[in-house]
Amino acid sequence: MTYWTFTDASIQTLPVGTLYCIGRNYADHAAEMGAPLPAAGTVADPIVFLKPPTAYRPTGSSVTLPSFSTEIHHEVELVVVMGVDGIAGIGVGLDLTARDLQAAAKAKGLPWATAKSWRGSAPVSPIVPWDLAGGGPWQLTLHINGEVRQQASTALMERSIDQLVAYVDDVFGLQPGDAMFTGTPAGVAAVRAGDWGLASLDDLCTLEVRFE
Ligand code: ZN
Repeated sequence: MTYWTFTDASIQTLPVGTLYCIGRNYADHAAEMGAPLPAAGTVADPIVFLKPPTAYRPTGSSVTLPSFSTEIHHEVELVVVMGVDGIAGIGVGLDLTARDLQAAAKAKGLPWATAKSWRGSAPVSPIVPWDLAGGGPWQLTLHINGEVRQQASTALMERSIDQLVAYVDDVFGLQPGDAMFTGTPAGVAAVRAGDWGLASLDDLCTLEVRFE
């Protein structure tokens, strides 16, 4: 079993559970994908997909890009980790996406699991305890090879953390150690073997990943 790492070592031990992911929660990213925001009041509002615990990688990891894709995109996102009683903390993560497979799946109306949920597709920083996180909004930043690729305020989220937690808990039943990726802002692009990524949430936490 794998456990979450916290910036404060005194925090409780939580196993990495199901990773819920929210699609199209920033209007500028939906626009760059040529996709509409989810229609209000439909069963796809919000858009939710899942990654298994085997997708998780801690900071400092090397992520092996899967051989079945030639187009792995980075999506930097605020990540919320659930505790025994509500939100345990937040961090920054990458929702790594095989964009070529996702496009093919979308065209055929097929599920996104292989495109989104492969092993290593969800690296996450150490988690900042919720009572030390300051309440937000926070600035998400992703550098690839030292160049800024994505930068945005979480104030641009279409749905708030509280709204998303309430929705996912209502539909699926959140358990301690489950987490939620809350969507990416604009600027998604490909990573290649040999690249390195550095993501941050204000100066609260950082995620460093190498791609191989
Ligand atoms: Zn995403």
